Amino acid sequence: MSLVHVVSMSGGKDSTATAILALEQHGKDACRFVFADTGNEHEVTYEYLHYLESALGIAIDWVRRDFSDIWWPRRDYVRDVWPTKGVPDEVIVRALEVFERGPTGIPFLDLCIIKARFPSRMAQFCTHELKVAPITEYQMSVIDYGNIVWSWQGVRIEESEARRTKFQGSGACVVAFDEVGGGLYNYRPILRWGWQDVFEAHRLYNVKPNPLYLQGRDRVGCLCINSGKQEIGAWAKRDRHHIERIAEWEDIVSAVSKRANATFFPAPGDNDTARERGGIWQKVEWAKTTRGGRQFSLLDQLEEPTACSSAYGLCE
Ligand code: SF4
Repeated sequence: MSLVHVVSMSGGKDSTATAILALEQHGKDACRFVFADTGNEHEVTYEYLHYLESALGIAIDWVRRDFSDIWWPRRDYVRDVWPTKGVPDEVIVRALEVFERGPTGIPFLDLCIIKARFPSRMAQFCTHELKVAPITEYQMSVIDYGNIVWSWQGVRIEESEARRTKFQGSGACVVAFDEVGGGLYNYRPILRWGWQDVFEAHRLYNVKPNPLYLQGRDRVGCLCINSGKQEIGAWAKRDRHHIERIAEWEDIVSAVSKRANATFFPAPGDNDTARERGGIWQKVEWAKTTRGGRQFSLLDQLEEPTACSSAYGLCE
C-alpha cells in the first residue's frame, strides 16, 4: 500500500503554492495533480494550468462532471409529471425545447438547467457538484488501486472571514489535517500562510503567478455567484464576453424554470420580476456605482482597463 499525495489545483496562487510544497516534500512520483473544470473558468486560467505543467514538470489531470445520466430522466419528469401538477403547456414546451437539445457539455450550465436555477450563497450546490464530487471520485479511484490518499488543499485561514473568526480557538471551521475515512485524509499545509508566503513560494521555484492577479483580481476562479461589486466590475471591464455568456445562460436557465426568471446573481424580492431587477446586465450597471448603488463612480470609469493593478503588490 502506497501513500499518494493528490493536490487539488485551481489555477490560483494558493493551490500553486500547495503543489510546490508537495513536490518539494515528496517528489513528483508520489504526487498527483487534479483540476476540476466547471466550464465557467477564465481562459487565462486554463492557459495557466498548461503553463504550470511545463513550469513544474508535472501532468495535471482534468476532471469534469458529465450530467447525461440525470439529464434525460429530468426531461422525462418535465414532460410526464409537470402536466399533472398544473404547469401551463407553454412553460412545458419552452422547457422541453432546451432538454431535447441534450446536455451542452458545460458542467456549470448543465447543472443549472437540471436544477432550473443558478446556485446561491444559501444553496451553493456548484461547489459540491462541480468541484468536490469529481475530485473525490478521482481520489477514490486512486484508493481503489490499493493506495492511501492525502488530499492536499490550498486553504488559508487569512482568506476567509469565517475561518479567521471561527477557527482561531474554537476549532469550528477547518483544521490542517483530518481523516475522512476509507483511506482518504485531508491535508491543508498552508493554512497559516500569509499571501506574501504564497507568492514567495512562486518566486523561489521560478513559477509565475496566474496573470489574472496582475489585472487587479484577488481571486482567479470562475465568475462566481458570490462575486462582489469590484469583481463584477473587473469582469465587465476586461472580459465582457464572459458577461455576455452568462446573459445567454440566464436565458437558457430561465427557459426551464417555471417562473421564467433565473438570475445568475441573487435578486431578492419577487421572483416573477427577478430578471428585470437582478439580471447580469443590471448587476454590471450596479457595479459601476459608488456605495449605496445610485451614483456612478467616475474614478472607477476613468481607470484604464489595461492598467496593471494587482491587489497583491506584484506590479513592482
Ligand atoms: S467559484 Fe463560485 S460559482 Fe464557481 S464553483 Fe465555486 S462557489 Fe460556485
